[in-house]
Amino acid sequence: MRPTLIVGSVAFDTLHLGGQCHPKVLGGSATYASIAAAHFSPVQLVGVVGHDFPDAATQLLRSRGVDLTGLEIASGETFHWEGRYSDDLSSRETLRTDLNVFADFRPKIPNTFRSAPFVMLGNIDPNLQIEVLDQIEKPAFVLADTMNLWIDIRHAELTKLCSRVNMLVMNDEEARQFTDRANLVQAAKILRSLGPELVIIKKGEHGALLFHEDQAFALPALPLGQVVDPTGAGDTFAGALIGYLARSNDLSPNNLRRALVYGSVLASFCVEGVSVERLTSANTADVNHRFEQFRQLTSF
Ligand code: AMP
Repeated sequence: MRPTLIVGSVAFDTLHLGGQCHPKVLGGSATYASIAAAHFSPVQLVGVVGHDFPDAATQLLRSRGVDLTGLEIASGETFHWEGRYSDDLSSRETLRTDLNVFADFRPKIPNTFRSAPFVMLGNIDPNLQIEVLDQIEKPAFVLADTMNLWIDIRHAELTKLCSRVNMLVMNDEEARQFTDRANLVQAAKILRSLGPELVIIKKGEHGALLFHEDQAFALPALPLGQVVDPTGAGDTFAGALIGYLARSNDLSPNNLRRALVYGSVLASFCVEGVSVERLTSANTADVNHRFEQFRQLTSF
């Protein structure tokens, strides 16, 4: 089976949700993306943790089909992010970011990973995302994610990265900020002109838009009765999407749309539990059931 290579953060997250604190739970963009992608294809993870990273977490990732040859264990502590959500979970503030071993991270792609056909550049410094691409032999498909921090301080590098990726994933706020356009259709056009033939603009609980060639595709998020923890939903969406593309090896417009649905299915599980709890408990039957729910939701 074709593997998906995923680079990004592997973290401890301290989450304040609805008056409760969840200290140092498993998080990170590569963690969420890898667990989601591994529902569809084998995953090769590239990242860094410290000596404090527990065996239980590495075992969990391995048991999901994630190859950790590229997970460096550096001296120091694992990256730690702390955030507090508003009561309605619609917004959050970052309380602290302890980069720890992430501060000096230079991704080294193991030889056995260099021919990976499907590559996801999770949210890290665009300079590091470029370094990853420099170490990979002709990938068939590259997806890049980013965040407002890099749009602020690495605009030129992000622009350079765009010329080397097939799919760029941003949320609506980031797309507006990066392109200086309020209108998302115009923003997507500008983003596509920088290189990526495919642009996805995520709109959180309102779903996602895919722009490809002269078409757009809009998908709602699954309306859920209860949302517990939105952390990692975006990474989960992107991970599942590329994992599904790797498994199907089909970049036709219809299959891209199906990939978006699988991304949204896994994101819907992600937000139903704290950390990766629900993402790991969902099985293939659950995933297929929600895929059908999406079909009904959007059919008329
Ligand atoms: P999301 O909710 O999709 O924005 O992703 C949340 C994840 O991003 C958390 O699990 C954090 O550990 C991770 N994260 C937060 N800040 C950063 C950062 N500056 N660099 C890399 N990962 C981060």
